[in-house]
Amino acid sequence: MQDISRGSALGTSGASELFQLLRDGQPHTRAELAKLTGLARSTIALRVDELMRLRLITPVDDAVSTGGRPSSQFALNPTARVVVAADFGASHATIAITDLTGANLIKHREPLNIGDGPDVVLGWLVETTHDLLAQINRDATELVAIGMGLPGPVQHGTGQPINPPIMPGWDRFDVPGWVQQHLAVPVLVDNDVNIMALGERAFAWPDTEHLIFVKVATGIGSGVISGALLQRGAQGVAGDIGHVQIPRGAGIPCHCGNRGCLEALASGPAIARQLRAEGIDAQTGQDVVELVKRGNVDAIQAVRQAGRDIGEVLTACVSLINPSVIAIGGGMAQAGEHLIAGVREVVYSRAMPLATEHLAIVQSAAAENAGVIGASMLAIHHALSPESIASMASA
Ligand SMILES: [Zn+2]
Repeated sequence: MQDISRGSALGTSGASELFQLLRDGQPHTRAELAKLTGLARSTIALRVDELMRLRLITPVDDAVSTGGRPSSQFALNPTARVVVAADFGASHATIAITDLTGANLIKHREPLNIGDGPDVVLGWLVETTHDLLAQINRDATELVAIGMGLPGPVQHGTGQPINPPIMPGWDRFDVPGWVQQHLAVPVLVDNDVNIMALGERAFAWPDTEHLIFVKVATGIGSGVISGALLQRGAQGVAGDIGHVQIPRGAGIPCHCGNRGCLEALASGPAIARQLRAEGIDAQTGQDVVELVKRGNVDAIQAVRQAGRDIGEVLTACVSLINPSVIAIGGGMAQAGEHLIAGVREVVYSRAMPLATEHLAIVQSAAAENAGVIGASMLAIHHALSPESIASMASA
């Protein structure tokens, strides 16, 4: 008995290691797995059985075998478990339940004011999670992680928002701790632009190692992926480009207390304010987008100039990070090519030629889904990590 349990414990961590080879979803035979790992066929067989018991892998149809032989190939079983992905903006929330590849099983979006505070917002998250799970006939025990993005700086590691300007009541609030009182799974919290960068990469640029995602909306921020890793910096504020000062902004006050910030000049509300000064009725960034879509020349020129302003700051980012993709998202990206054209105009003319030789500056392809896709990636990455699989196997 003791020998068996010891053997099982050894097999458990080994099963987790083997699972990392099967995570990509590609089918493998036991023989291939033995060759890849250098382990004996008998050891591979034990570990495959362990992963099958956990339903993490599943037999897949064998293309060459036809005569009713059992399949000899195995791959990730995407439906074995589910994760919750939540994207909170200032005034709306999107929540999805996805499988282990990030495919949406169900998605829900509704207006929600982040300023109502953590009890209200996180209470809604828990309640909506239960509702959605019930709608797709899945049980809370099948949930393995929750990923979420919040519209403010988040301390990586603790998941606590730090002095978030538009989130009263959230400063240093223990978000994971609160949620875990109701849903006992790991809770990964990050800044909304960071998860958008993860989502954009997963959706449109999976093989790109160096990508900057820029959100242009009520505020301006960016998420930086360098060397295929999201860069959060020492305090989790890497990529916070909205408060870089630019010459054209001289004297314009910003809500952060400084003057001349990029955000005070090129965000949606800032462009609307400039248009109002010219006698055009625009209250919000969305109004500006509508004007642009209707072909209003003043609005088009203002948006293109905002693109140039953003391009000034991004030129410095290009020198620092040398990305191969800059994806522009957020509500103002709906103004289409006019914003992007302004960004390109400055970056392509001002950055060093080698840095822009293969640099694509494009509109976000994941668009309004970038956040929820990224939150799902955050949750899945944690749920399928060697540590998580090992603890699942030993449970
Ligand atoms: Zn500022």
